[in-house]
Amino acid sequence: MYKNITTINLLKAFVMPRILYIMQMLPLFLPSSFFTQLRKLFRTFLWSGKGARIPYDRLILPKNLGGFALPDAQLYYRAIHLKRWLQIHVPSFHTLGTELELLQLDPAQKAALWGLSPSTLHTHALLRGTSLVMKQLLKEHNLLNNPSLFMPADLTPFAVRSNVSHLAPVWLKIRKYTTGDFLKAASSPSPDQHPLNDILMSSNFLETAELHSISRVLLDKKALNSEITWFERFFLHSSPPRGLISLLYTALNKPQNSELPQHLKTWEADLHTTFSDTEIRRIYSGSHGFSRCVRVQEHSYKVMTQWYQTPKQLYIKGLSTSDKCWRCGKESGTLLHIFWSCPGVKQFWTDISEAIHKVTKVKIVLTPGLVLLWLPTPEFSPSKRDLVTQLIQAARLLIPLKWLCRDPPLHSQWVMKVDHISRMEELASWEVRKHAQYIKIWSPWKTFRTSEAVH
Ligand SMILES: [Zn+2]
Repeated sequence: MYKNITTINLLKAFVMPRILYIMQMLPLFLPSSFFTQLRKLFRTFLWSGKGARIPYDRLILPKNLGGFALPDAQLYYRAIHLKRWLQIHVPSFHTLGTELELLQLDPAQKAALWGLSPSTLHTHALLRGTSLVMKQLLKEHNLLNNPSLFMPADLTPFAVRSNVSHLAPVWLKIRKYTTGDFLKAASSPSPDQHPLNDILMSSNFLETAELHSISRVLLDKKALNSEITWFERFFLHSSPPRGLISLLYTALNKPQNSELPQHLKTWEADLHTTFSDTEIRRIYSGSHGFSRCVRVQEHSYKVMTQWYQTPKQLYIKGLSTSDKCWRCGKESGTLLHIFWSCPGVKQFWTDISEAIHKVTKVKIVLTPGLVLLWLPTPEFSPSKRDLVTQLIQAARLLIPLKWLCRDPPLHSQWVMKVDHISRMEELASWEVRKHAQYIKIWSPWKTFRTSEAVH
């Protein structure tokens, strides 16, 4: 999997920018089959043509939601079109291009962009994709209220209908106002409170009757009281936020269902517990390790997702005749047993806990929850906590190195591992100018190593 992380980084750094650039410059419609094909290529590249060990849907989730932040082209495509949609509709987001595009559209086409009428944009080269993406997303996500208070008032379905009738002139008058303005004016008790009221007042009898009947229908839908959605909130911005596509991408990138993934269910069963939401967040935030070292990140993710092929897993899959641990030969070889509860590694963990005490001068009780899933957060000062985490992490990394060996890892191997991680962190700290922080965290370890050398 070390290779997999590197592959994900390669896709992120070299492949995605090329795809994204073209999609942004030419916002054309792309069929789903294009993305299915692309996903297939990504998967083949990622797993070297073998079966996927982690579902694709999980890999694309952000790291704090238990994923690996593998970029997904279709989600980016959607985010790019949502950005275009906002550029067309939010006045402060307008660009010259979108303003020109808007001028070309008739009311039915404009309404189609709000997902209101059957799309009349199928032949429109640049807006076909945007209208179809919008239609799809309106179904899947709570993007807009129905009706949205930010929709131009002349686009309500009734208004579009009236546009072709003798009532058209009145809609021309109110087109620069939103449905929200229209409703506020219609429901306001005093006529001079809203500029739109002048229009409502000055219209002829038929027009006024039409406007009032529409406002009644809209008010019945309780449009004024509905809370604005995360997407509608962009209408309140005075300028486009930085990294708009990333913001939209993140908002769309949510787990398909809220059910706990299978690997965490296994952990719950093994540890005889039920994780709270806070604990799940904690597990996810620790799932990429606490180091910039890719190997450490990979290892943490593997433990969290129960990636390792334990005797029990092999037995369940019918690839082995026994599920017994290779060290003690007595108990079932679950991940928890191999990493923690096997009598063969008991002494190793006792030694590690004593060594941590010697280094950091804090007494810490190692538990399976802490060692394997970082639960609960140790209550030390941040720098102490960071060092303790690194020391536990280094010890845990040694277990898979002794996979299928009867003997537990050695103390000297642990010291070497910690030295290596420390060195990596030091190099990384120079790069991001965080050397002072590095010294603060690691100085107890340096002192420990010097004292060990003296003895
Ligand atoms: Zn055992």
